[in-house]
Amino acid sequence: MAECGVCFRHCTIREGSLGFCGARTAKDGRVEPYNYGRITSLALDPIEKKPLARFFPGSMILSVGSFGCNLRCPFCQNYGISWSDEAKRQAETAETVSPRELAELAERTRFRGNIGIAFTYNEPLVGYEFVRDTAALAKERGLKTVLVTNGTADQTVLEELGPLIDAMNIDLKGFTDRYYKDVLGGDRTQVMRFIETAAEYAHIELTTLIVPGENDSEEEMRELSRWVAALRNPDGESVPLHISRFFPRFRMTDRGATPVRTVYRLAEVARENLAYVYTGNC
Ligand code: SF4
Repeated sequence: MAECGVCFRHCTIREGSLGFCGARTAKDGRVEPYNYGRITSLALDPIEKKPLARFFPGSMILSVGSFGCNLRCPFCQNYGISWSDEAKRQAETAETVSPRELAELAERTRFRGNIGIAFTYNEPLVGYEFVRDTAALAKERGLKTVLVTNGTADQTVLEELGPLIDAMNIDLKGFTDRYYKDVLGGDRTQVMRFIETAAEYAHIELTTLIVPGENDSEEEMRELSRWVAALRNPDGESVPLHISRFFPRFRMTDRGATPVRTVYRLAEVARENLAYVYTGNC
């Protein structure tokens, strides 16, 4: 048995079995990343797709994902690699890539406009050691490093990775404890702390997916954007917020897509407090 301290769940993992995220195991009484270097997705994406709107706009970034996630969002768009039965199958067939191979690949794709490596698709921090080792090599080569995360890792993980990461998109999925706890299986206060610390290390942008009947009120957006307005990126600029539209997916098919007018209206509300607000999936 070993206790994992990577995220707020603090799983106790039995020898040879997996933690809640499906990405970490216990061996000889120690927790190890079971998904280290095991890649399920690799693509050269426009950086705006991460989404990052104010970090090297117009560039491309080599985006890599593994498997496993520590939240249980019922509308997950990447359930095939995060926490479904399909994700378990993917875990068994994932290809292994070393940090050096990935850094070299990123370097070789510079000619296609690539500026670095983005750790994304599944929750990258449940396998933070691979992020750390790869990001260190990428930085040696003058490449940029990007993390797309749900912001639920422990502060110690963030402090270890922070100096190696140039930009992050972090989910701030809503602004009520109820939604984080009952619908997503997370802890809002912990995510807010993560965001505050992340802004000390890297350029950050935040993403809120608007789900009808859950987090789509003007009051909630007003409160959320007021809190974001108090944050600053390392360059002193205000933190951008991406407000995106929900589509029925995976285990949340009991409601329709978010009306486009709701997304636009909530973006207007956020602009009462924020300089940079973007809408997505509209
Ligand atoms: S990272 Fe995974 S194994 Fe570790 S505490 Fe979180 S859910 Fe559990």
